[in-house]
Amino acid sequence: LDQINTVSPSISTAIIKELRDQRSNLKLIASENYSSLATQLAGANLLTDKYAEGYAHHRFYAGCDNVDAIEEEAGQLACKLFGAEHAYVQPHSGADANLVAFLAVLSAKVQRPLLTELGLEDPSKVSREDWAKVRAAVHNQRLLSLDYYSGGHLTHGYRHNISSHLFDVYTYSVEPDTYRIDLDNLRRQLHEIRPLILLAGYSAYPRKLNFAKMREMADEVGAVLMVDMAHFAGLVAGKVFTGDYDPVPHAHIVTSTTHKTLRGPRGGLVLCKEELAEWVDKGCPAMLGGPLPHILAAKAVAFREALTPEFETYAHKIVENAQALAQACLDESLQVLTNGTDNHLLLLDVAKTYGLTGRQAESALRACSITLNRNSLPFDANGPWYTSGLRLGTPATTTLGMGTEEMKEIASIIKLVLSHTTPTSTAGKQSRAKYNLSANVIAEAQQRISALLSHYILYPELDLELLL
Ligand code: PLP
Repeated sequence: LDQINTVSPSISTAIIKELRDQRSNLKLIASENYSSLATQLAGANLLTDKYAEGYAHHRFYAGCDNVDAIEEEAGQLACKLFGAEHAYVQPHSGADANLVAFLAVLSAKVQRPLLTELGLEDPSKVSREDWAKVRAAVHNQRLLSLDYYSGGHLTHGYRHNISSHLFDVYTYSVEPDTYRIDLDNLRRQLHEIRPLILLAGYSAYPRKLNFAKMREMADEVGAVLMVDMAHFAGLVAGKVFTGDYDPVPHAHIVTSTTHKTLRGPRGGLVLCKEELAEWVDKGCPAMLGGPLPHILAAKAVAFREALTPEFETYAHKIVENAQALAQACLDESLQVLTNGTDNHLLLLDVAKTYGLTGRQAESALRACSITLNRNSLPFDANGPWYTSGLRLGTPATTTLGMGTEEMKEIASIIKLVLSHTTPTSTAGKQSRAKYNLSANVIAEAQQRISALLSHYILYPELDLELLL
């Protein structure tokens, strides 16, 4: 930090302030975690200076021996951790991993067969006229994915995302009465649409999915089963989701982030069966440029951490805590979608219970030292900006060491805050963001959060006083 401070005091100050912020606010954001200092340091060093386009031992740059070793180790560890046939560890993010996977499937299943039919191998040698045919065929493919309001991710075909330009997108939804995905209904839809890719995975769905059954269904129509396990990769690595619920043995291709439940550096990952390996490894040039060698190193460190028995215990505790939090919320008469959770996250309907938008509830809780995010609910009348719900997750509090007793206290504080928060009566759009909450309640909630966090110091090795 001294080094940063010499060049840019405002940035070193912001980093210290962020540490203070994260220490003094309770993190319930389902997609966030606290990576180890070993992971952070592996990702913050001179490796950032190295270019290494290509993949291990197949580079377009000289002097890549050490990056080769790092990338190879990260890939091998990822295969071991998830029992995968092949791993591609270069994607910079979950969004990148999904694009790499989409392009790999399109290349293997559509572009290559068409080029073979045309008697050509190399796309760069194809004439403009023939390339127009290839492009038309590639852009005509169907994707069937979970819709955004049911918990799907933007990169799964949302209209404002590049994925909706790549594919002719169809979506499936949760059932209006149960808010769960009904696989029999999905099977009917799948037979009607017959997509190239059936995409499973979510950002805001609290129940586990039977990937063995989804693979069976995909096979019935010759679709590729792709699973985006960005949110629950840590639960797969930690052997919470096993057998039919482990996507890796069943899906043709699996994408992930490395920074959510998996607790690694910010990044992405693609796992696949051997038949797709050649295509996945072409992430560069398909859409990536040079890899981030420092992040590859941090991924390798985090994968090694995730291979330990302690991580397995951690992953089970994440779910134990999420279930305890869901039950405690129900006991506090809060509305929990699907009445519970199988994973690390739960959804609260604050519109039905308190007449609040998600935006109002999120802001009120943040004022009381609880950081979480508002979330669209299925069939949400308040749209994706204001929303009707909150998403709560336990990966970060579990990393801090909290357990089921703390979850009860957290639910009680959330109840205290929400039950005293009221919408403002101001007119106009802004009214859906503003709220009323008394200073007394804010003070009481802040004091209780502070008492809770005083037992769980984030990064105790870092002395804030010395840093200031
Ligand atoms: N896929 C899913 C299911 C996600 O929830 C997310 C992020 O929230 C992503 C992909 C994108 O990850 P990133 O933010 O690293 O691009």
